[in-house]
Amino acid sequence: MTKKIAVLPGDGIGPEIVAEAIRVLEFLNADMGLDLSFENGLIGGAGYDAHSTPLPEQTLSLCKQADAVLLGAVGGPKWEPLEHAVRPERGLLGIRSELQLFSNLRPAILYPQLADASTLKPDVVSGLDLMIVRELTGGIYFGQPRGVRALKNGEKQGFNTLVYSESEIRRIAHSAFLTAQKRNKKVCSVDKANVLECTELWREVMDEVAKGYPDVMLSHMYVDNAAMQLVRAPKQFDVMVTTNMFGDILSDTAAMLTGSIGMLPSASLDEQGKGMYEPIHGSAPDIAGKNLANPLATILSVAMMLRYTFGEAIAADRIEKAVDTALDTGVRTSDIHSEGMQKVSTAQMGDAVINALKG
Ligand code: NAD
Repeated sequence: MTKKIAVLPGDGIGPEIVAEAIRVLEFLNADMGLDLSFENGLIGGAGYDAHSTPLPEQTLSLCKQADAVLLGAVGGPKWEPLEHAVRPERGLLGIRSELQLFSNLRPAILYPQLADASTLKPDVVSGLDLMIVRELTGGIYFGQPRGVRALKNGEKQGFNTLVYSESEIRRIAHSAFLTAQKRNKKVCSVDKANVLECTELWREVMDEVAKGYPDVMLSHMYVDNAAMQLVRAPKQFDVMVTTNMFGDILSDTAAMLTGSIGMLPSASLDEQGKGMYEPIHGSAPDIAGKNLANPLATILSVAMMLRYTFGEAIAADRIEKAVDTALDTGVRTSDIHSEGMQKVSTAQMGDAVINALKG
């Protein structure tokens, strides 16, 4: 059956990096008969310019009908004066909630060739490959009641609510265990069960769900220790699953272990495994239109798409291996360039990956 991909290049460097990822997919489509089809839509500033909204109706219905969405990036100075409701970033939040993408997968992978890019010692991070599974649509960022109220003594008081139902915990737990089954079969659940009742329940439900995955090893860690372990010995982790807020913080720490923003992909999945795939970086207005951007995060995002939405592990492995081979040849876009390496453009990096795929 045809696998429909909605392609939303967005703004800034978005169109340039997405073009390279599509070239990679088109190559594999022809080479392996993957039966992929592509349809473009507008989002962010591009959506606003054409339809006065960052998430045009046509784009939303295109994404709803698609099996997966590939997004470049949104935003830029041109749209900053706009009121919040129509800012490009609203398009992104809108699509995440419309598609109910509750499970955010953010890998932190450090290619040994780029170990110098990290602020940590090369032996601590070289070969790092961990996956953070962050709950994306619940927890303290959405819990009610919330707000700022006036107390009787005249003082103001701010408050938010950390709330998770069993079903919300269960579905993110399944997402983490299924992810681990495709990797090294270890899940570390991060909570603060010693202080927060809500995460005591989180721990209970994780233990219960784990019984259905006897091939996966589950461990638990308090979030303060997890933050410390991430910078002390990050290679101990395979999959880390956690709440919305803890995941927000820990995934940025994990990303920075690799030191290279142009290398990191992400996936946000719904309950059926349909997903939106995007690099973690933004639209980089400072280098947009100059053929300078690193397309590897977007290329690695389509590898995740093939693995997690389409179950095409061989094709995903091929892309990841081709990126590795391309880096071995010494080509580097300027964000990951170091002395002695060959500086290349966005399109040349795409060429290097396709040449590696051709073998
Ligand atoms: P950014 O990630 O766009 O850029 C930060 C720095 O990293 C810049 O120097 C940029 O040149 C560089 N960089 C980013 N991606 C790169 C790549 N692929 N190759 C080489 N260099 C790269 O973050 P920012 O500057 O804070 O934000 C710029 C715009 O992007 C803003 O409008 C912001 O709202 C938006 N943004 C969008 C997303 C998204 O679409 N998911 C995420 C973050 C920021």
